[in-house]
Amino acid sequence: MINEIRHRLVLKYTVVIALVLLGLSLLSYFMQKMSNIRFVEEGLEDYLDEEIWEAQRFEFDENSSVQDRIHKIASNAESFHNYTFWYKNNILIHTEEPLMDDVAQKLRQRIEKDAFENGRIYHVNVVSEGQKWYFFLMKQSLVFDDGISGEVFVLGNYTGMKVSAHIYLRNILLSALVLTLIAWLLGCFLVNKSMVYISRSYNKQKQFVSDASHELRTPLSVLMGYTELMEYRYGESAETKAMKKEIDGVSALIDALLDIARFDSGKMSLSVENIHMKDLLQMCLENMAVVAKDTEIVTHLEDDIVVQGDLRLVRQLVFILLDNAIKYSLPPRRLVIVLKRRGEVPILEVGDNGIGIDKAEQQLIFERFYRADKAREATVKGSGLGLALADAIVKLHGWHIELVSALHKGSVFTVVFDKH
Ligand code: ADP
Repeated sequence: MINEIRHRLVLKYTVVIALVLLGLSLLSYFMQKMSNIRFVEEGLEDYLDEEIWEAQRFEFDENSSVQDRIHKIASNAESFHNYTFWYKNNILIHTEEPLMDDVAQKLRQRIEKDAFENGRIYHVNVVSEGQKWYFFLMKQSLVFDDGISGEVFVLGNYTGMKVSAHIYLRNILLSALVLTLIAWLLGCFLVNKSMVYISRSYNKQKQFVSDASHELRTPLSVLMGYTELMEYRYGESAETKAMKKEIDGVSALIDALLDIARFDSGKMSLSVENIHMKDLLQMCLENMAVVAKDTEIVTHLEDDIVVQGDLRLVRQLVFILLDNAIKYSLPPRRLVIVLKRRGEVPILEVGDNGIGIDKAEQQLIFERFYRADKAREATVKGSGLGLALADAIVKLHGWHIELVSALHKGSVFTVVFDKH
């Protein structure tokens, strides 16, 4: 139990820390990316203005060859280098570009093929020799001094930024991973430290439950003895009957507490045998006939279903489920008990048409002393220990319980004897 809490706490905190770190890393990546993009976009507008200014003053020699119009810029950081293309009457009159002919060629093809609006920023990318190049593109139309119209294109190259952004993302994710590992180690250390106190008080509480239950048993036996003596002397009366009922109730509660204390101590040893489930169920149903006298019980019990378990505990498990099904069903009460195989695995279903259990409470009802609101409203007596015991019994055997329930419709508890 304590170990389970320890593992859950460490896992919970580590997951929370990892998610926070991941969130912060992604946030910082996107903020960095946005500010880079804004930086390039702003630079691009200035670049376009400069190029327009120069283009308008450019003296174009119509006899020059296309090669003469290309102004090559030697660069050792081509992934940051920008491009510009000037057109007059749809003829390329001047271009500035780094040494990469293929990229320039492809950009020119795009510019000449596609239509672009003045002043808008476009994302353009081209692939050259297996590498992808990323650009922001802006265009502006203009009229030259001689009245002929033209266009100036500028392309801001942000390939370098894209690559460094990827490296940045990889690095912060790696750091987040390392920090999560550190958080996990730290979490283990801190949780272990604080668990020392919790486990001490938990053990004390377990010891108290066990001691108090033992102490209460003796006065209860004495009370029962005196009540029976009174009945012997003065005959059975409504008062003695009520006293015996109450004493039985408290005894059952103490037995459950002692059983739970024994499960907790880990000293519970199982005496496993083959149990013929159909026989056991029929016996339990016969024993419950008095309490179930106004309940219709429908049974579908397959023969030859044998499970390996501790007979006393399995009987107790069946009693708890049947008792609850009767207690929490509504008139006209109807129980459906099914014993069958799901594939190879034997299962026992105990269904009722009762008050049902709210979805939010379906996990909680297996906890000690938990009683769902509807059960309290229905003023059904109980201690909230039955299902905690049932859960401990199935876990001890390596089985599990499934629950399907809907408020005001009913519940089906299924024991899956799955360790075969
Ligand atoms: P108790 O019955 O003594 O209260 P249990 O541990 O057996 O304690 O059950 C815990 C709670 O689960 C009950 O108080 C009740 O709210 C709910 N419960 C158990 N079985 C059923 C059932 N068949 N139908 C509806 N509610 C149920």
